[in-house]
Amino acid sequence: MREQGNYLRPFGIGCSQGELLSHRGHITWCVEYEKGALCECKVFVCVKDMYTKQERIVMVIREAQTMVKQELAKHHDTMIQFLRDIVAIPSFDSQIGPVGDAIGARMIELGFDEVRRDSMGNILGRIGNGSRILLYDSHIDTVGVADAAQWEWDPFKGKYENGIIYGLGAGDEKCSTPPMIYAMATLKKLGLAANWTLYYFGNMEEWCDGISGNALVEHEGIRPDFVVIGESTNMEIYRGHRGRTEISVTFKGVSCHASAPERGDNALYKAIPFIQGIEQLHQELKNRPDPFLGAGSITVTSINTHSVSLNAVPDECSIYLDRRMHPAETKEVVLNELRVLPNAHLAEIVVPEYAEPSYTGFVFPVEKIFPAWSLAEDHPFVQAGKATFESCYDRPAKTNKWVFSTNATYWMGKSGIPAIGFGPGEEHWAHTTLDQVPAAEVVQCADFYAMLPLFLEGI
Ligand SMILES: [Zn+2]
Repeated sequence: MREQGNYLRPFGIGCSQGELLSHRGHITWCVEYEKGALCECKVFVCVKDMYTKQERIVMVIREAQTMVKQELAKHHDTMIQFLRDIVAIPSFDSQIGPVGDAIGARMIELGFDEVRRDSMGNILGRIGNGSRILLYDSHIDTVGVADAAQWEWDPFKGKYENGIIYGLGAGDEKCSTPPMIYAMATLKKLGLAANWTLYYFGNMEEWCDGISGNALVEHEGIRPDFVVIGESTNMEIYRGHRGRTEISVTFKGVSCHASAPERGDNALYKAIPFIQGIEQLHQELKNRPDPFLGAGSITVTSINTHSVSLNAVPDECSIYLDRRMHPAETKEVVLNELRVLPNAHLAEIVVPEYAEPSYTGFVFPVEKIFPAWSLAEDHPFVQAGKATFESCYDRPAKTNKWVFSTNATYWMGKSGIPAIGFGPGEEHWAHTTLDQVPAAEVVQCADFYAMLPLFLEGI
């Protein structure tokens, strides 16, 4: 009865009256039959004879797809306008209060079951009360306006030209918020996500990636089963990125008059062999890359000395390191390789903390270590993402990775919660005066966000 020969793996899309399996987005068979009736989820029909009814089943999941697309198409212009509206609300330096208000108001309008802020001031919207949690993560803060003169247009007004929306945060990453919340509202309206609790999580990320999710899990007690990150992925499924850490290294010396330096102990001189060791270490890291994420790296980004005057020997020299890691390069690995460098035994080596209060005054101290992460190509969540993509857009899905770091450094990197990335626009516009996103991709992403929970059923 069950033919399983060609199936890569079952997604087990469940319904109340039987079991459906899908392969690359298409239902292939199920058991149980109730002629003429739709299942409780109103999407998938169970048929007894898979061999003769297969086309009918494919048609039914496509019907769900069609319903979703039709509903979302009614809101295309609104989504684009809403993106332009929230780009116009400044939210740099983690000041996401006003933009969160606007998004919260829209979610209330759209009939979300719950809209509130967490202690840190991130905005949460919930739909459904099912046993499993899928969270849509969109950071709604931006970087600052470094040099206003370099912008060819008002960064908060931007422009909409030839189908491209420009402005600070247009691509990084307010662009994923409208499709996420309209996708969730569509699922509610069509009754397609009865088994899920879905969260939209509009948060701050730019100053400390992952801190918002970390606090959501450990302080608010909300731990999702799956997370989709809305940073730009050029409409591909992203499944990893390198991690990073900041490291402070301090050498102590003894001050004396510069006219007789031999009376003191120059802290800068102690640091020099260590710095040369860093340069050598970077070359060695190139020889042990991760096959997917590439090689780690290390460099000195800052050096400061303390002297009581310019004619005194410095009694302190501190350097700052930027270390990029792949998943095998954990904190211990990173610190141990520093501890064997020349003069390391004379230094204090520390991973500093981020403990800045949020705009609500909430403090959630975290070490400035942001682990690398990746999901295997055959991970069920990646496979579900690919199936969703192929169902939505009728073309093969590609997987890839980010160059920069995202909130997934916490979700998957620290906490092991499966995460994938899917968002409109290209990563390389982030943090530039040409921050931008194609409007067509913004609205197309809504289809993916809406269909993803359906392809995650049974995983
Ligand atoms: Zn971003």
